[in-house]
Amino acid sequence: MNVKINLSEKEMPHQWYNIVADLPTPPPPPLDPSTGAPMDPSLLLKIFPRSLIEQEVSTERWIEIPDELWDVYRLWRPTPLIRARNLEKALKTPARIYYKWEGVSPAGSHKPNTAVAQAYYNKIEGIKRLTTETGAGQWGSALAMGCKFMGIECTVYMVKVSYQQKPYRRILMQLWGADVYASPTDRTESGRKILEQDPNSPGSLGIAISEAVEDAFKHEDTNYSLGSVLNHVLLHQTIIGLEARKQFEMIGEWPDVVVGCIGGGSNFAGLSFPFLMDKLQGKKDIRAVAVEPTACPSVTKGIYTYDFGDVAGLTPLLKMFTLGHSFIPSPIHAGGLRYHGMAPLVSLLYKEGIIEAVAYPQKPVFEAGVLFAQTEGYVPAPETAHAIKFVVDEAIRCREEGKEEVILFNASGHGHFDMAAYDEYISGRLEDYVYPEEKVKEAVRELEEFLKSIGQK
Ligand SMILES: *Cc1c(COP(=O)(O)O)cnc(C)c1O
Repeated sequence: MNVKINLSEKEMPHQWYNIVADLPTPPPPPLDPSTGAPMDPSLLLKIFPRSLIEQEVSTERWIEIPDELWDVYRLWRPTPLIRARNLEKALKTPARIYYKWEGVSPAGSHKPNTAVAQAYYNKIEGIKRLTTETGAGQWGSALAMGCKFMGIECTVYMVKVSYQQKPYRRILMQLWGADVYASPTDRTESGRKILEQDPNSPGSLGIAISEAVEDAFKHEDTNYSLGSVLNHVLLHQTIIGLEARKQFEMIGEWPDVVVGCIGGGSNFAGLSFPFLMDKLQGKKDIRAVAVEPTACPSVTKGIYTYDFGDVAGLTPLLKMFTLGHSFIPSPIHAGGLRYHGMAPLVSLLYKEGIIEAVAYPQKPVFEAGVLFAQTEGYVPAPETAHAIKFVVDEAIRCREEGKEEVILFNASGHGHFDMAAYDEYISGRLEDYVYPEEKVKEAVRELEEFLKSIGQK
């Protein structure tokens, strides 16, 4: 039996799916932090191209994928849908496990799906340079590649601890032509402010976002680009689930449960939203499960409120599950998915009870990642291993209950640049790490005080 399902050129999707068209309630609007009133989208024109802002607020169900973009997508899309037969055997499960393998992209993850799209729209609107932040470097490398293809420049603020500990992704970004800085830097006011308080700051995604946003604000020909969280990013990623739907149609199967890990929520949304479309339209029920680390449990332990996307408070306020924007996860946590908040659309679906979420500590996550590598061959990114951990538990449950479920998960990326983390696991140095409840409480208290000051509850 064939384990790998590919699509032909003419079956590839030529539109993205916008879940906003099918939501039971409209998403709460982003707020202007200086007034507490809904943000005027045109203010975002300082850092985003018009076409992406239009996508951000669009209520159209289908949005055209430009042909020029397909010329790049075609390099790695469609990605294969693979049946994990060896993993099924190892788990002695009657469940059928499939994964959508996004690790085949040049940068090794799903992130280029939106990176090339964002570089494309910025380029056609005359922008010469994009700035961004990156943690471990997956997003930065995807955007560096996207900018190179579209002939524009790329500046990446990379979280300092990753810059120091993970040189290979930095080199990859530079190889694709990007300028990469260890954040906090002294190039921006936000960076200098953090360095004054703590010259040895390890940096965080939030700090790096502040720097990248400030850089874009201050330069006319420069825009900012975000690799997750925002509606237009999730939109671009729906190509994953749209392809998967066609692949399942080809083999006459359909998933009972779709699974993805969540950092900012984009790969989970990309796979699950096109399947949730049927559920929202009342046609076909499906479970969608988002998996996060206990070290940064934004959805399972966070609160649903308005918060900034960054530490310095430069971004609009987004209604989302958050641990508070000043929360910085411990460097002990090696599994990625370190963002304090969660995509507003994913947050809303969780709030409405349409999707589920679970959190795992990192040791069982790495154990699941190793099991996957030993059965299916591919080494998953530690982020992806979170989804795999849930899939393993679910497959075992199916065995115990004698259920033949079809499980689909997003294999969001490969772990070839994560060998140091796997080394820690294999050598027994990896420690489970549960988030510091006190620090989160403090961050949430700060946030609530701020919200009160602008008249938001
Ligand atoms: C960035 C990344 C994630 C987390 O980001 P989301 O926006 O939640 O998808 C997950 N897996 C891989 C491989 C990544 O590079």
